[in-house]
Amino acid sequence: MTLDSSRLHLAIQKSGRLSQNTRELLRGAGFRIQEGKNALAARVENFGLDLLLVRDDDIPTFVGDGVCEFGVVGRNVLEEMALDEGAAPVDLVAPLGFGQCALKIAAPDATAYEGPQSLAGARIATSYPNLTQRFLNQAGVQAEIVKMSGAVELAPRLQIAQFICDLVSTGATLEANGLRPVDTVLESEAVLIRTRKPLSPVRAELAVQMLSRIEGVLATQESKYIMLNAPEEALETIAAMLPGAEAPTILPLAGRPGHFAVHAVCKESVFWETLQALKNAGASAILVVPIAKMMM
Ligand code: ATP
Ligand code: ZN
Repeated sequence: MTLDSSRLHLAIQKSGRLSQNTRELLRGAGFRIQEGKNALAARVENFGLDLLLVRDDDIPTFVGDGVCEFGVVGRNVLEEMALDEGAAPVDLVAPLGFGQCALKIAAPDATAYEGPQSLAGARIATSYPNLTQRFLNQAGVQAEIVKMSGAVELAPRLQIAQFICDLVSTGATLEANGLRPVDTVLESEAVLIRTRKPLSPVRAELAVQMLSRIEGVLATQESKYIMLNAPEEALETIAAMLPGAEAPTILPLAGRPGHFAVHAVCKESVFWETLQALKNAGASAILVVPIAKMMM
């Protein structure tokens, strides 16, 4: 496969738990994805970006080797692969706020667990042998790891292992198999990664633009635009209370001498408690509105 050297390449999961959110993030950043006949790649019509549609397990390797400049993958897969000997390292650009799950040790309901020492001498089935081994090493515990590529939750019933180490989000799968989570090995979510291989000037420029758009979407997920009125003497206190805001815009209110409108982008969540505190400080007519797009 030869890739167009004037375009960027982003490896994303072809189909699975990360696909939909990844595509939504890209669409939110204004990238129009052309769904072609090609099952391996998709072109972005309005930007120099091609998507490679692959299995999530291949994404760290593609990005590490520089076949793709960027990739979206679960932190769990990234860290597991990074512990493989000879794996090409990649840089983590940003967590993406979706695909949350955790790699957990789980035990049958009838098996006692009093901390990692309960694993001593036991067999643990997992698709994440490196992360499981690191967890055991950190706890100073010796156990046997049984590597399975799927259906790990069946291992205790099949008497392949006493414990498992597997991804959990709601815990429903564990419960359905008579298991319960007992310890956490890694908290995970989808992350954007980039190659450490140098980029050509064309690609470097595209990368700056792409990242700025993606960062814009990530920022708006949390950010709110806040507007309120305040008397002059309260302005300083109120400005200091706005969560994650840069210098607010302050405008005099027509017909109300000594009163001002304060507008600001708040880059952190705005809670009811914050609104109440602003009101107590003298603010009135407080409005919090979502931001559709942002470029910093
Ligand atoms: P592929 O065919 O691409 O290899 P897969 O079966 O390995 O797919 P998925 O089950 O689609 O992968 O999961 C992809 C990623 O989604 C996981 O690596 C993890 O980061 C994340 N994820 C979020 N919630 C869960 C969950 N409950 N179980 C498994 N993965 C989850
Ligand atoms: Zn996979």
